[in-house]
Amino acid sequence: MRRRSFVRAASVAGAGTLVAPGLIHGRGRADLVLRGATVFDGTGGDGRASDVAVTGDRITAIGRDLPAGSEEIDLRGLALAPGFIDIHSHADLALLVNNRAESRVRQGVTLEVVGQDGSSIGPWSDAGFEATRDRYRRSGVEIDFRDPAGFLARIDRERPAVSVATMVGNGALRGLVVGAEDRPATPSELARMKALLAEQVGRGCVGLSSGLEYTPSGLADAAELVELASVLRGTGYPYASHMRNEDDRLLGAVEEALHVGRLAGVPVQISHLKAQGQRNYWKADAVLSLIERARSGGLDVHFDRYPYTAYATGLSNLFPSEYRAGGSAAFLRRLRDPATAAALERACRDKVALLGDWNSVQISGTNEETSWARGRRMGDLARERSTDPYELTVALLEANGGGVGMIGHGMGEENTAKLLAHPLAMTCSDGGAYAPYGALSGGSPHPRGYGSFPRLLGHYVRERNALSLEAAIHRVTLMPARKLRIADRGVIRIGAFADLVAFDPATVADRATFDDPHQYPVGIPVVVVNGVVTLRDGEHTGSLGGRGVRGTPLAQG
Ligand SMILES: [Zn+2]
Repeated sequence: MRRRSFVRAASVAGAGTLVAPGLIHGRGRADLVLRGATVFDGTGGDGRASDVAVTGDRITAIGRDLPAGSEEIDLRGLALAPGFIDIHSHADLALLVNNRAESRVRQGVTLEVVGQDGSSIGPWSDAGFEATRDRYRRSGVEIDFRDPAGFLARIDRERPAVSVATMVGNGALRGLVVGAEDRPATPSELARMKALLAEQVGRGCVGLSSGLEYTPSGLADAAELVELASVLRGTGYPYASHMRNEDDRLLGAVEEALHVGRLAGVPVQISHLKAQGQRNYWKADAVLSLIERARSGGLDVHFDRYPYTAYATGLSNLFPSEYRAGGSAAFLRRLRDPATAAALERACRDKVALLGDWNSVQISGTNEETSWARGRRMGDLARERSTDPYELTVALLEANGGGVGMIGHGMGEENTAKLLAHPLAMTCSDGGAYAPYGALSGGSPHPRGYGSFPRLLGHYVRERNALSLEAAIHRVTLMPARKLRIADRGVIRIGAFADLVAFDPATVADRATFDDPHQYPVGIPVVVVNGVVTLRDGEHTGSLGGRGVRGTPLAQG
């Protein structure tokens, strides 16, 4: 038997098929053969009809008419790609609340890159750790780690349905070391933040993120960001930035991100690039030329974007960040303080005008007492309740301790297609992990948590023809893997991890909408994570294969 399979494998190899030495000399029969798909290997090349064999967690053979595996899946008529890598994900701790990662794996994601927007999972102070631990105990989750690297180790033990890599957030570092105060870090605080970052990167984290529209992340000025990011110099890991502004001051914000990369000497990933508000739509071209010019000047810069014309954030983000310094309590006080109230109102109304009108603001998450607002547009709500929309905004924020989720309908479809199609663009979800049942089914979240990757392939590739199928696949597989220095993923080749997604290019589509977000996409029947068949016939198998994924730095920094 062993002899026969050796001969068979060897002769197939001779006919131009690639077979891993391990398959020939080792276990023989593959665990799994995915048969007859058009294989897009993630490099951006054309698809080729081929079988793919998997043994253990690795791809062990690629070619026509591979020998039978212990398990066979017929994929004729479908495309097979490397599992999608979400370079800007907010799945984070929700993966522990429901480890089946339903909304994620069903859209073909096999690797989440979390710790975005400056807020990674720690490192926490004792108080930060205890607060998070107590909050998650209510969902039956015991938090037993204190930093992003510890989270990766937990993922290794827990093995949710998807794998996880993580950035380290400058906001988390600043919150721990400096606190919530709006002041520059002292030299010793900066040294401490740098040491913490170096330690986390040494344990496999894949870069530094910032969320400069938020506090405490945005309390760091450019000089502090340069100093912190310089820890990454020589590792190849990027500085990923949710920039200081995404509307009227977008150009300056892009300049700042590029400046940090140049001065720190590190690659840059601009997070969810957009030009918010009609009066800023023209800036999409302007920022693309800024980025292209930086690129030709030698900076390793890319950007990502989710395939929707609306963003999601906190309702407090309708107010400039300087009014949000010092935390939620301080912000809520300023809303009513006669010394600041008028300026806050003016700034908020101006932001809403920039988006369009009050119906551009849709409420996504609230507490139970104000659940009547979930999923609703602020203009409609204010009319129904015979109140002023600004007063209602303040009332909602006060009733929720400042924590209200919102969706802002403020971007153009033309720009969205243009940005997604740009050669330096990757597609991300920027979304969380949800399920239509249980603890993750609440609220009215942005549909990107369910639909980003099928929407890229269905709406932007098939319907709009904004970019080719092979380019779209490359942008969500090998391209992010390279940017983050993640080895042996994002590609279908022998020896790579068996992270795979099969989909039907003719039917793949998102179903989640802004009004009805908790819906799975269609046209994605099979997903394999580290060799584990997690989605089959479009249904979750309950088998879980995710792992903590660590980067491979160029050199120890
Ligand atoms: Zn962000």
